Amino acid sequence: MPELPEVETITAALRPHLTGRRFTRIETHIASVRYPLAPLNDAALLGYEIISVRRRARYIIIELDNRRTFIIHLGMSGSLRVVPAPSERRKHEHVVWHLDDGMTLRFDCPRRFGFVKTAVLAAAGAKPAELNGLGLEPLSPEFNADWLYRVSRGRRGPIKSLIMNNALVVGVGNIYAAEALFKSRINPFRAAMNLTRKQCAALVAAVREILTDSIRIGGTTIATYKSLDGSEGKFVQYLQIYGKDGQNCPVCGTSIQRKRLAGRNTCYCPKCQK
Ligand SMILES: [Zn+2]
Repeated sequence: MPELPEVETITAALRPHLTGRRFTRIETHIASVRYPLAPLNDAALLGYEIISVRRRARYIIIELDNRRTFIIHLGMSGSLRVVPAPSERRKHEHVVWHLDDGMTLRFDCPRRFGFVKTAVLAAAGAKPAELNGLGLEPLSPEFNADWLYRVSRGRRGPIKSLIMNNALVVGVGNIYAAEALFKSRINPFRAAMNLTRKQCAALVAAVREILTDSIRIGGTTIATYKSLDGSEGKFVQYLQIYGKDGQNCPVCGTSIQRKRLAGRNTCYCPKCQK
C-alpha cells in the first residue's frame, strides 16, 4: 500500500507536470472505483489553471484556481503516471485527465480501493472539509515530544497503536512504526502512558528521521507500488526490523520476535526494546 513517503514522492513528481496547466477533458472508463466517478463530469473542472498539487496524509490534492479540487487516494495498489495523450491506455487506467500541453494524467487502480473525489474549497489553499478529522502531519512542527507526551498520558493501549492512529498523527504505517520504535528502543507493546518524556522525544525524532529518509529515497515498495517514473522505492533495503523475525537484531544479535498487535505483525527486539 502506498504509504506517506510514497505519496509524498508521487506528489512531488506530479507537481511540475501539472502546476500552471489546465485540464481540457476528463475520461472515466468505469462507473466507480471506491466511490462513483460521475462527479468528474463537471464542466467546472475544465479550463481552470492548476494552482497547487499537495499532499495531506495519504491524499493527493490537486487544486484549480476556481477552488475546485481533486482528492486522490491510491488505495492498496493504485498508481498515477503522466504520459503523452496517444499512449495506449492500460487496462486499469480508469481515469484519464487531458492536459493543455498534450500530456495526460492517468489513475491506475486495479483493485478499485482507491478513489478520485472532487471538492469545492472554502478558500484558495484551504483544507478540504472531506479531510477533517485527520491528525497531525508527522513532519510538521506540531508533531513534537511535548505533544506526544501530552497525548500519551492516560492511554493504556500500546504505543505502536497510538502512533498508528490517524486521528492523532497521520501516515505512520506499520513499517514506519516498527522501524521508529526499534530506532528509539521502545517496545511496541508498552503502554503509551508509561513512556518518559525522553522516550517521547526519541520516538518523535525516529519517526521524523525514518519518514524523511524514506521520502529522500522514494518510498518503501513492498508489493506493487511504483513511483511516477516506474522506479521502485529503495527504502525496503534499509529496513532494520520490519519483516525480520527470526533474524538477528542488527544491534545486539538477539533473535527478532514477531507478535500480533491489532491484527498486524509486529517485529521487535526483546532485548533492545524496553
Ligand atoms: Zn537487539
